[in-house]
Amino acid sequence: MPELPEVELVAQSLDKLARGRRIVAAKLIRERLAPESSPALFAERLSGAAIRFVHRRGKHILFDLDNKRTLITHLRMSGRFMMLPAERDNPKFTHAVFYFDDETRLLFQDQRHFGLMKIVETSRLGEAKEIQKLAPEPFSDAFSLKYLRDTLKTSKRTVKEFLLDQTKVCGLGNIYASESMFLANIDPKKIANKLSKKKAEALYDKIREILSEAVSQGSTLNVDPENIDGSYYIDGFETRWRVYDREDLPCTHCKTPIIRLKQGGRSTYFCRKCQR
Ligand SMILES: [Zn+2]
Repeated sequence: MPELPEVELVAQSLDKLARGRRIVAAKLIRERLAPESSPALFAERLSGAAIRFVHRRGKHILFDLDNKRTLITHLRMSGRFMMLPAERDNPKFTHAVFYFDDETRLLFQDQRHFGLMKIVETSRLGEAKEIQKLAPEPFSDAFSLKYLRDTLKTSKRTVKEFLLDQTKVCGLGNIYASESMFLANIDPKKIANKLSKKKAEALYDKIREILSEAVSQGSTLNVDPENIDGSYYIDGFETRWRVYDREDLPCTHCKTPIIRLKQGGRSTYFCRKCQR
């Protein structure tokens, strides 16, 4: 599942590709992609609107439209956007299509059917349930060291589970949670409210470091408009993970084999020697 850096990069690419384009028609093919709109309503609310800009909040991609509405999108497991020229057919698992005035179209494809779309009034975006409860953005002033320390104090769950809770820290998933705990030398099984001041400070720094590193590395990649998301996964990211997906491989710091642990049904990778 894409995490903050990947979603940020996809939003940036969509902003470059779609900003200023007018949607002449919008087609909802798989109704459950947008459970609060019928296909007719989906078409009515989006047709004729120009995309002012595309941005991100948490792991949501937001299309700000000039008809006072915002289209909220969550890629979830396998959702992706593709910009296609008129001559190309829709690929399999195309769930929504946005036709532009120059005959190109943006489509949303989702093999595993978990993606979500919702149209809201832009002035009430903050009230949407998807957005309302999200923790402050990791790069915003609101996400301060004090915020993180105070929030850690309120949680009796493990640090790993704490980091995945989007209402506490926003944008991390399995990959960047593992990576930031590794860099901060924190045992993922540690209980959040037991974390020392020093470790909390390290965690704060490493969360921001790891996310900004991933965004800046991704920004240098060439993006194929027909495969926006894939442009970030295939060559870009996997090779530089420090612990994630490295079970049994030597720790990059001390050579101890990396352990994979199940926490809340999700995998955590860590070095039992470096992370205590
Ligand atoms: Zn190690």
